[in-house]
Amino acid sequence: AKEKGRNCIQFFSADMNARAYEELLMSKALRDALDQEQFVLHYQPSVCLDTFKIVGVEALVRWEHPEQGLVPPSTFIPLAERNGLIGELGRWVFREACRQAVAWRDQGLPSLRMAVNVSARQFGQRHLITELSREIDSSGMLASDLHIEITESMMMENPDRARRTLEAVARMGVDIAVDDFGTGHSSLSYLKDFPIHYLKVDRSFVMGLPEDQDALAIVRAIVAMAKNLKLKVIAEGVETARQRDLLAEMGCDEAQGYFFSRPRRAADIAQLLKENRPL
Ligand code: C2E
Ligand code: CA
Ligand code: CA
Ligand code: CA
Repeated sequence: AKEKGRNCIQFFSADMNARAYEELLMSKALRDALDQEQFVLHYQPSVCLDTFKIVGVEALVRWEHPEQGLVPPSTFIPLAERNGLIGELGRWVFREACRQAVAWRDQGLPSLRMAVNVSARQFGQRHLITELSREIDSSGMLASDLHIEITESMMMENPDRARRTLEAVARMGVDIAVDDFGTGHSSLSYLKDFPIHYLKVDRSFVMGLPEDQDALAIVRAIVAMAKNLKLKVIAEGVETARQRDLLAEMGCDEAQGYFFSRPRRAADIAQLLKENRPL
């Protein structure tokens, strides 16, 4: 048996490179994490640029790894996309976000919008709509309090199918936001053909404000276009008061960013909502 074990190890090191092996270990860990519910959602407030009060939050998933601590999504979402666990993870995120939104409502806190990120592979899954409506129904969440965030490239990959999916989502009463807007190298025609409600200006443009003249021109153009198309605009990655003021002046509707709040645990958000003061 010992002999066989050694052969097995040789087989592995010969045929799989270190990277693939690492990926396999990580996949296994992610599988266990799902079974053991090692995930947690943090929530980043989105504020109205007239009142600076919280009008919504974006749910951002973290992995509470028993040894490594809080692992950011950039490391495990792409992995979950590759190994197919994204469907299950995405479902957990929907369920937890809805559960939390209802819990805040039941605590008598001011109602707010809950935005959930949907990944590319999850968006392409046939049962997305069924699952979404099931989670809404079983949680008692108001569909109109829920948003999904998708990216331009997700719509461009298979535009006909994307349009049908988004129409079904919109029919449920769930609003749709285009995330990381302006980074997708895509045609803008989908903006009139698809049921879209919000554009989220990517952080890479906001970051350049106010000095970078190109960034300034791009953000202005996005806000102007959104107004004409009757879409709302959310700026992401706002880190300074100067950026906040400039965006408000441009007519941007809402903003998110470290200047107002980093993503926080549910209990901290509840506290902010209770205080209900401008950020
Ligand atoms: P995103 O959807 O663009 O989310 C915004 C990211 O920017 C978050 O990183 C947030 O913490 C960060 N951020 C917010 N404000 C600021 C700021 O002022 N300055 C800077 N430097 N960063 C800021 P996070 O939480 O690490 O998430 C990274 C990405 O992972 C997200 O980008 C999203 O694409 C993905 N993601 C997060 N949660 C989920 C999820 O539940 N499902 C899916 N499919 N993807 C998720
Ligand atoms: Ca997002
Ligand atoms: Ca974004
Ligand atoms: Ca972004």
